[in-house]
Amino acid sequence: MSEISTENIQIERRGLMLVLSSPSGAGKTTISRALLAEDDNLSMSVSATTRKPRPGEVEGKDYFFMEPVDFNLLVNKGELLEHAKVFDNYYGTPAAPVREALAAGKDILFDIDWQGTQQLAQKAGDDLVSVFVLPPSTQALEKRLKSRAQDSDEVVARRMSKASEEISHWREYDYVVVNDDVNRCIAEVKAILQAERVRRNRRTGLLTFVEQLREGY
Ligand code: 5GP
Repeated sequence: MSEISTENIQIERRGLMLVLSSPSGAGKTTISRALLAEDDNLSMSVSATTRKPRPGEVEGKDYFFMEPVDFNLLVNKGELLEHAKVFDNYYGTPAAPVREALAAGKDILFDIDWQGTQQLAQKAGDDLVSVFVLPPSTQALEKRLKSRAQDSDEVVARRMSKASEEISHWREYDYVVVNDDVNRCIAEVKAILQAERVRRNRRTGLLTFVEQLREGY
């Protein structure tokens, strides 16, 4: 009898969209970086924005920085999956890279606000997994915003007043994590991702696999 290998069984699946939202300064960027560094199947969605680059930000990596007129063109051509005004700037998610990644079984991470998440929830349905990151306290949030030292005092003050509004949308998310310990938070989001990847409805190759099992292969 020939040996049948049971190693490395690959079951095809559709990619998923993992959204992380939080008020600015709650640690979402640190969590995102940690996830991306250790996971080859996860990549970041690069948004378009009318905001000016901060020191150190790289065009095409952090954002596609553009003038409002060019942003409007993307909106009018239907090339954004979602878009929203956050503070005084516009932000939006280019649709094409997302469509391609999902079809290829690749997962995409989104750092977008609650408005964008609502739009994606309507458009993306089961492809979307949303996680809200809460800061451990208001004081901790303010301290983190100030220590970034990239924004003026006025901007920090406005971001603080926006934080409570952003937090009020926590119920719209599938999962909520509290960032009092960033390593635990990272572990929690990783666990969410692992579990969501094996959801039956994403695993498009299951039907064939199970049929073969039942036929005795
Ligand atoms: P920042 O200016 O600090 O990079 O981002 C400000 C806010 O805009 C953050 O809450 C971030 O999640 C949100 N944001 C960034 N890109 C997008 C996007 O493409 N769509 C939406 N709706 N929000 C975004």
